[in-house]
Amino acid sequence: ATAAGEGEAAAGGEEEEDRRSERQAIADQELLEFLFSKGLLPSYAFPTDLSSFLVERLVPRNNEWKMEVVERPQQSIGKALSEYAPGRLIVINKETYRSGGVVANTLPDVENRAEAIFEERHTLVHCENCSFVADLTDVTQGGARCPVCESDLKHTHMVVPQVFLPEEGRALKDDDRDQDITYATAAQFPVPVGKDDLPSLRPVGRNLMYVVTTDRQLVTVNKGQETSDGRSGFWICNQCGRASVDEQPKVSHSRPYKIEFSYRKPRPAHQCAGTYENVFLGHVFSTDLLLLRISLSQPLVTETGDPLQLRILEDALYSVAEGLRLAASRHPQIDLDPSEFGAGFRIVPNREDDTLLLDVYLYDTLSGGAGYADLAARNIEQILQQTLTLLEECPARCEQSCESCLRHYHNQYLKERLDRNLGAELLRYALDGTLPKEKAPAAQANLLRNLQRLLELEGLECKGPAEIHGVAVPLVVEHGGRQVAVGLRPALLAPDWQGHSFGQLPATTSTVALNEFILGRNLPDEHQMVRNAVLGKQ
Ligand SMILES: [Zn+2]
Ligand SMILES: [Zn+2]
Ligand SMILES: [Zn+2]
Repeated sequence: ATAAGEGEAAAGGEEEEDRRSERQAIADQELLEFLFSKGLLPSYAFPTDLSSFLVERLVPRNNEWKMEVVERPQQSIGKALSEYAPGRLIVINKETYRSGGVVANTLPDVENRAEAIFEERHTLVHCENCSFVADLTDVTQGGARCPVCESDLKHTHMVVPQVFLPEEGRALKDDDRDQDITYATAAQFPVPVGKDDLPSLRPVGRNLMYVVTTDRQLVTVNKGQETSDGRSGFWICNQCGRASVDEQPKVSHSRPYKIEFSYRKPRPAHQCAGTYENVFLGHVFSTDLLLLRISLSQPLVTETGDPLQLRILEDALYSVAEGLRLAASRHPQIDLDPSEFGAGFRIVPNREDDTLLLDVYLYDTLSGGAGYADLAARNIEQILQQTLTLLEECPARCEQSCESCLRHYHNQYLKERLDRNLGAELLRYALDGTLPKEKAPAAQANLLRNLQRLLELEGLECKGPAEIHGVAVPLVVEHGGRQVAVGLRPALLAPDWQGHSFGQLPATTSTVALNEFILGRNLPDEHQMVRNAVLGKQ
């Protein structure tokens, strides 16, 4: 019995030791943060951009309640913004938790753990209609309207999470596995308004320049769930950090953590009386960028105020950015997991002439930069060629994108927006000025097959490809003696582009040249357009 008693005492001593080292770690963290904030330490030397998911347990000990850490996995804040976001399920040691709290890294006797992150919140000036984010250092710079698409700009508070907590501070019951999944966007490089913010660029293609720019501020944001009127953000209590994806919780509520206290002190209030705020979760960091600038002008689409043209440009840019990130990470001199690079784009409006500047950039996901952006710049020509090959030649010959070309785990939230052909056309234009080409009549006829079936079901007569007045027409639709030539036009060419082969038809021929982009995405509209043309309606 004596021996067992000694054993317990020894185990208790070890636990005591664990708790001491836990507190020491938090104190060390605070010291490091102080030194960084005074600029006394370089940020790349330590992993300061980690977030943890903290599971705790309050245990009675010597007239006091003491907190024990049960689990505390960590990951980079960029990943944590998606994977620990409120609503997500997190499995640790066979227990399932649902993230339900966002707080600062505090000692366990702090009553309002979220206060510190709310004191340091940022205001993000952003557009809900496009990817525009204004420079964080000057909130007035955005103005009232988005300089890219002219929508109203929104001002939303953004808090930087340090620690995520499980809902109610504990594991879920076996029958509860509901989950809300939200994603952080790629880091956004704020758009300069009215001034240029880059060192001098060097040409690397007909319409393409590049530069490495160091120590630039990027912002990664999880804007919550997508709703019909934009992004809903998260509802987070400004005192306890209790978080919800979709509903504004009650005024008086339980905290997602317990408070460590001693019997001698007054016991903290059982319920939290904090206020819920609608915020984004995000992270601001500095890193080095390899930036590529494409100058776009007529006859390519440049009207970012037009929703369709904006959508086409954004999808092309997402695709080029993701292709670039893969090609760079696979370059033999670099050879990294694609998650070690981030890629993004921004559209820089240029009101002086009709050109549009499209910036695609690659950044080190490690804060402070690990030198990969520079290494990629030194191999830029090869990387661009490999990006083009990756976009033009999918081994699975997919229509838009698939796991064999552009898609992978880290860009799954983008899969609807990746279109390798669109990306390839933009990159080709950037490299050697080649304009997107009208597809061969047989290829167009193939793409128009679904539309043809719909029209035939209604009793309209279709044939194609067929020749009219010596011109090969992909699809000819006839009804009641009326004839319409139907074809496709490249998505990246502006609506007033005149180079379509239908231009060779006599002016008396009715023609409909459909945009390739909408054909795959909004068939009912296209169907209606052709139908109206054949039936002679407006
Ligand atoms: Zn916009
Ligand atoms: Zn609260
Ligand atoms: Zn593919």
